[in-house]
Amino acid sequence: MSIQTLSGLAQAGALAGKRVFIRSDLNVPLDQGKITEDTRVRASVPAIRLALDAGAAVMVTSHLGRPKEGVVGPDDTLQPVAERLAELLGRPVRLVRDWVDGVELAVGDVALLENCRCNPGEKKNDPDLARRMAALCDVYVNDAFGTAHRAEATTEGMARFAPVACAGPLLAAELDALGRALKSPRRPMAAIVGGSKVSTKLSILQALADKVDQLIVGGGIANTFMLAAGLPIGKSLAEPDQVDQAKAVIQAMQARGVQVPIPVDVVVAKTFAADAPATVKEAADVAPDDLILDIGPRTAALLAQQLRQAGTIVWNGPVGVFEFDAFAEGTRVIAQAIAESDGFSIAGGGDTLAAIAKYGIADRVGYISTGGGAFLEFLEGKTLPAVAALQARSA
Ligand code: ADP
Ligand code: MG
Repeated sequence: MSIQTLSGLAQAGALAGKRVFIRSDLNVPLDQGKITEDTRVRASVPAIRLALDAGAAVMVTSHLGRPKEGVVGPDDTLQPVAERLAELLGRPVRLVRDWVDGVELAVGDVALLENCRCNPGEKKNDPDLARRMAALCDVYVNDAFGTAHRAEATTEGMARFAPVACAGPLLAAELDALGRALKSPRRPMAAIVGGSKVSTKLSILQALADKVDQLIVGGGIANTFMLAAGLPIGKSLAEPDQVDQAKAVIQAMQARGVQVPIPVDVVVAKTFAADAPATVKEAADVAPDDLILDIGPRTAALLAQQLRQAGTIVWNGPVGVFEFDAFAEGTRVIAQAIAESDGFSIAGGGDTLAAIAKYGIADRVGYISTGGGAFLEFLEGKTLPAVAALQARSA
């Protein structure tokens, strides 16, 4: 089903003199108030420029981190984002703190509306909040693919209540590219899923098991699979109550004649720290006080071998704590294998993007998505709630 787009409205001259509200994804990593990685801010610029060039008055908002609703704590403010956005746009960007009940704005203005997740009702998708926010604008734009899998007031509710609702260029491009890449993927198709959000991703793995020819796990997810295989994991990150889920995934793949590779060796430490001494161990030898922080070199080589044979590779989640160099080797080897593969690769996820940047393989990945959870749910074949709301308005 097609969706109305911001560029379509701009071409039709439907934005001139209009108040345009853009829900972007400006959830950037911050270190003591400084942006450490600004991809998402840069990615939000085309939508804003498009609206400005079309003669609109522009409001932009995003969530940042996981604030408590009702207050804007010192780590919650979009102030650093306002400054970076102003530099990128070459014009002032005003940060508006209390905005739900009105924003003063003229054509050509850009107002950044403070962290939308600080508003009570945002996460619950409270319809009253969504209605009040929708009343701020003539045109609502969703340009935040990364949160499109969550039905919140600025992602889903507003799309129902705003006078006009459309997709921004970033969201439209994501849906288009992912849709095309996954329509008839070259086989075999391999998915590699790692990272730390174990329970969220495990439920997705089950659906993925029907779609892919190979399923490779890493990070905290692999630890949970090791538990399921009866291996010791010490104090490692895992979800012991999801072991049955992991077993179900293993069985679903087995029914198709495919093994989910379980790590044969791992890199462990006694503490979670950059300078913790790293030891390579056989998977069976993990001690009760060990933390598995990376896959071992033999495992990495085996997985890399599998990835090299794939026609399509989908990657979300680092396979180890790649931020610490002693535990980064597994992720580096995987990244390298993806870069060297002849297959079409698609990668997504905040930390996955950081790993791609760290190993300099961005230009050798077929398509890089800004989404993590949204990317996986799209892959699963689900219609993302924020996208569904836009589709309903475009019908
Ligand atoms: P993404 O943002 O790409 O979707 P996640 O947010 O799920 O990925 O997970 C990324 C994080 O997972 C990284 O910060 C990494 O340090 C962590 N991680 C990977 N492997 C492990 C592990 N074995 N133990 C603890 N944390 C891990
Ligand atoms: Mg992450």
